Formats: sequence, C-alpha cells, structure tokens
Amino acid sequence: MIHGIKGVKDILPDEIRRWQAIEAAARRAASLYGFHEIRIPIFEVTELFARSIGASTDIVEKEMYTFQDRDGTSLTLRPEATAGAVRAYIEHGLGSVAGAQKLYYLGPMFRHERPQAGRLRQFHQFGVESFGSPSPYADVEVMSLLWRFLNGLGLTELTFEVNSLGDATDRPAYKAVLVEFLKTREDRLCGNCRRRMQTNPLRVLDCKVPECRAATEEAPRLTDHLSPSAREHFARVTEGLSMLGVPFVLNPRLVRGLDYYTLTTFEVTGGRLGAQNAVGAGGRYDGLVKALGGSETPAVGFAVGLERVALLLPEAGLPPAEPLICVAAFGSAGIPVGVRVLDDLRRAGLRADADLRAASSLKAQLRHADRLGALLVAIIGDDEVAKGFVLLRDMRSKAQEEVPFSEVVARVSARLHSPAE
Ligand code: ATP
Ligand code: MG
Repeated sequence: MIHGIKGVKDILPDEIRRWQAIEAAARRAASLYGFHEIRIPIFEVTELFARSIGASTDIVEKEMYTFQDRDGTSLTLRPEATAGAVRAYIEHGLGSVAGAQKLYYLGPMFRHERPQAGRLRQFHQFGVESFGSPSPYADVEVMSLLWRFLNGLGLTELTFEVNSLGDATDRPAYKAVLVEFLKTREDRLCGNCRRRMQTNPLRVLDCKVPECRAATEEAPRLTDHLSPSAREHFARVTEGLSMLGVPFVLNPRLVRGLDYYTLTTFEVTGGRLGAQNAVGAGGRYDGLVKALGGSETPAVGFAVGLERVALLLPEAGLPPAEPLICVAAFGSAGIPVGVRVLDDLRRAGLRADADLRAASSLKAQLRHADRLGALLVAIIGDDEVAKGFVLLRDMRSKAQEEVPFSEVVARVSARLHSPAE
C-alpha cells in the first residue's frame, strides 16, 4: 500500500471537532475585529518568497518546497502567507478598496522540516494582516486579537512576549554594535551562528543552542538602540496592551526570522508544548509592501500555528456536538418509511442518521445509534407502520413513547432541544 508523506498528516474524523472549533473561533475573532477573509493560492513564484522572507532565513535557506513548472518557472509551495497576501494586496489594488485593508487567512503551509510533535511539513496557520496604518494602536489591535482568540479557546499558561526591532534606520546601527559584541564571543557560538553573524546577526539572539544563549546573555539590547520615534511607538504599544489588560513580558532577545519585520515584534509561547513552544508570532513589517513593488504601506500582522493550538486546546473548550437522532427501521414496510422519516427530520434542520448497511437487527441498530452518541432513536418496524406511529426511544433513560407519524418531527425537535425532559 501507499503511505502518506512523512510530516504530512491526515486529520481524521475524531479530531475534526477540535479543528472546526479552532477554525470557527478564528473566523469569529477576526470578523469581530473587522478583518475580512482572503484566500490566496498555496503556490506562488519562488521569487516572491525569496524576496519577501529574506535569503538568509531558515525558510528560504532550507525549508521551501520548490519545483519547476513545465515552462521552467520556479514555483514554491507557500511556507507562510504574508508574502502571498501582500502580493494580492498590491496586485488587486486593495489599498483603495473600501474595507479591504484588514485581511485574515486560514490554511495549509509547507516547510521541509524535521517532523516531530507540533512540527510538520504541511501545517496550518490562521493569520491576519492589517495594512495602511502606522499607528501603534494597529499593533495593539492585532496583538489583542491574537490574545483574545487564544484565550477564548480556553488556552491558558501562555506567555506573550514583545520586543521592538526599531525602524529601518535603527537596524543597521544596532547590527553593527551587535556584530562587534558577537566577535568577542565568536569562539563560544555554534557553527550556524558563526555563519549567521555575517549574514543575519539578529538571528544569533534567537538561537536555541544553550551555549549560544549563554554567550549572548550580555549582548547589547535592541531596545537600548531605538530612535526616539521607534521608542515612542513601542511605549504606545505596551501602554495600549496594559490598558486592554493583555498581559505581556518584554523579551529583548525576541527577533523574527523574517527580514521584513520592523518595530513591534511579538510571540506567544505555551509552556506545555516542550521544544516547539511557539504558538504564534507576528509584528510590524512596514517595509514589505514597498519592497514587493507596492506603494509605501505600513503593515502589521501575525500567524498562529493551528497544530500547536490543537495540542493545547482543552476538551472543555470544545462546543458540544449537535444532538443526534437515529432512525432504526426494519422490515419491508418499515425501511422505506424510515427513509422518509429520516428525510423529514433532516429537512426540519435536525441532525439525523441511520444505519444503512445491510438490513440489521433492531438490537444492532440500537448499538450503532449508541456508538454515534444519539440521544433519541425512532424505531420503525412493520408493526409501527401498521399502527401509524413510531416508537421514540430515549437512549439514556431507555423510556419509549409512541408518537404518531405526523407529530414525529415536532416531538423530536422539542426533545432534542430540551433533552433533560
Ligand atoms: P519555529 O521557531 O517553531 O520554527 P517559526 O519562527 O518558524 O517557528 P513562524 O514562521 O513565525 O514560525 O510561524 C508562525 C507559527 O506557525 C509558529 O509560531 C508555529 O506555531 C507555527 N509553525 C511554524 N512552523 C511550523 C511547522 N513546521 N509545523 C507546525 N507549526 C509550525
Ligand atoms: Mg521555523
């Protein structure tokens, strides 16, 4: 037999309630905050990612699924969706379309990584992008949306870390100071960091290797090298978060792997996730729209990893399944009537099911209904058809009542929606 690809998972029916709850919460939260859904393709020309994410990042260096189209064009499965959202924003002139500046997306992303719990090759993200506002309150808006979304799902023990990367003019100056510092500790850094020191020194601060962390403990802090305007922006953001009661901690080491981030950067981590503890992350990326050929457009956004949200989601955070009635029909007269009753129930908006496998005994059908979690079973045999009623069985109390065919839908509806009766 043929197996699925390593790190690419099926989401099976028994997990789907969890996923649907997460997706519904994401859509609801985004919509409450005035964001509109955008659906962008899962593949784009490779150049889009190379230019936006930055050549010396893990994603572009080693994680992209890239292939040649038949005409030789290099294409890539999207490793994240900001690049595609920005491309679409520019291409469709969304900057001048009323209400199209705040976008959200949900969908699969692809990265060639070493698969483990919470790290897959096809994974899913919910993300938002807010275009056009340089206001620190736009940062506060997306940050509070992220926090409230996770909280609303009942996720606790989360840490919200924030930092400022400074604006485009602060970065080069800070990088120079940082590189000077790193040179004094070069022998204590891992090979990867020694290379990153040249290509993307900020990322050294982000290295997970304990020796590198220790060596950079005393590194100069980005937040001590902010221009007055960047400092002001950051102060408004942190004040805004405090005002809204979003708890956060300052993490001067927090840098993003992607080159286009400016000013505010943030990450939410979940203690119970172990090594893959980042649940979601984001920040401001004021330079990206212009870099991709659009007009100067400030922007801020985040992306959350839904596999990690699913791992943290408590069972109690899931909405209860809609109540179910099963129809158990048997006999040459009973079965067709059962099929009609089933259709009546469904057309009335009730969740109804039946065991349509080869005619099985009443006992087997009741067992099947029980496994499906049915609250009620409508029993319809030849006898019931002759007498003109169905036998409505309460699966918990086992009590049965006779209900005339014409009253079945109304009776079931009343019973399912006040099951304590
Ligand atoms: P990490 O440090 O875990 O590699 P990242 O910085 O690469 O994360 P981002 O690009 O910021 O992650 O993506 C945002 C979120 O998407 C992450 O916080 C995480 O929850 C999720 N994510 C990223 N890569 C994967 C993956 N391979 N499998 C599952 N979820 C992922
Ligand atoms: Mg990564």
